[in-house]
Amino acid sequence: MGNPDLNQQLFDRARRSIPGGVNSPVRAFKAVGGTPRFVQRAQGPHFWDAQGTRYIDYIGSWGPMILGHGHPAVLEAVLRAAQDGFSFGAPTEREIDLAETIISLVPSLEMVRLVSSGTEAAMSAIRLARGATGRSKIIKFEGCYHGHADALLVKAGSGLATFGNPTSAGVPPEVVQHTLVLEYNNLAQLEQAFALHGQDIACLMIEPIAGNMNFVRASLPFMKKCRELCTKNGALLVFDEVMTGFRVALGGAQSVYAKSLPGFAPDLTVMGKVIGGGMPLAAFGGSRAIMELLAPLGPVYQAGTLSGNPVATACGLATLKEISRPGFFETLSARTASLVEGLKYAASQAGVAFSADCEGGMFGFFLLPELPQNYTQVMRSESARFNALFHGLLDRGIYIAPALYEAGFVSSAHTEADIAETVAAARQVFAKL
Ligand SMILES: *Cc1c(COP(=O)(O)O)cnc(C)c1O
Repeated sequence: MGNPDLNQQLFDRARRSIPGGVNSPVRAFKAVGGTPRFVQRAQGPHFWDAQGTRYIDYIGSWGPMILGHGHPAVLEAVLRAAQDGFSFGAPTEREIDLAETIISLVPSLEMVRLVSSGTEAAMSAIRLARGATGRSKIIKFEGCYHGHADALLVKAGSGLATFGNPTSAGVPPEVVQHTLVLEYNNLAQLEQAFALHGQDIACLMIEPIAGNMNFVRASLPFMKKCRELCTKNGALLVFDEVMTGFRVALGGAQSVYAKSLPGFAPDLTVMGKVIGGGMPLAAFGGSRAIMELLAPLGPVYQAGTLSGNPVATACGLATLKEISRPGFFETLSARTASLVEGLKYAASQAGVAFSADCEGGMFGFFLLPELPQNYTQVMRSESARFNALFHGLLDRGIYIAPALYEAGFVSSAHTEADIAETVAAARQVFAKL
């Protein structure tokens, strides 16, 4: 072992100055074990680690890099914007351009506000929903992630009459006492929760296609019921499309549901990831009547020093322009589907229980015979086998999420050759599972 592992050296060094060596926990490889890869640079569908080893990247910064890394048009827009100034704390025309672009792509939006992270957008949307309804209680679902605002770091309590328990130290029980946590895709629980608390519920927040418990779709009847019960009880339906927005389709997951449920739309939408194209940018939006409750027009306070940052908005605009080109999502969806089909076939040939699903440029797979419908079912996956799969792929230059409860992402830069290389690697790993 003559070669010192440069990733390990960086990890050792990082842990002396940064808690756990990382600035966001999943990066530390704690679930799968081993040494995180420190990224040196990335281009297209690939990145290179500290050792100079190349990986095919199926994380893409957890979703934003839908065009792959270093897309020339995006890079040029960012460089040009940077030359004109990094941040002004005053309005710019580019913010209007981005707001108008987002609104034009998502029919449920009449107005948006730009912020800097998905966490901030989700937290602000909840404040807005509470301000708009004059109610305190919110519904979320186990396994959905909406960022790390205090009121959202909560797991189910002992029953539907009780509210959630904090999942993080530092969150006082009083802060989550208004958060009700339900099982995803459980119609009976949903009906019961509204029967008990309907008049007190400000909003129901949901990932329509959940990407933070791997990849789990809300069923059509469940989504339809969410919409009906919110409308009937005067609660707002809030779609967290930070991951799915501009990723599963140009119009987001809501456009996918609207295909089967005509006229379907959420009241508020939370966005992030792809709209920043890899820069810190997120947004939330909805109808004019609700959005005009925000300061400076209305009583709901919300602000941000770097909100609508000129370099980030340039990056987001250039990204949205590329993905709006005719045929973009058809090609991306086909590429993602060919990966998923290839993995399924390789697993079946090796006799490995395997299920997988995808929509647009987002996918998920499970070492389970059938697609799970909720968090409890997702967590029935054997983590030791997932970890063996993860490390087997990593050793072969394929970088998937280092935890079994994360989704995966394909970019328009991934070629058929990248997919074939991935499936070939998976075939070798499946044979040993
Ligand atoms: C990533 C994510 C967030 C949080 O966004 P950050 O930018 O990491 O704060 C919120 N909701 C969903 C669905 C996400 O995937």
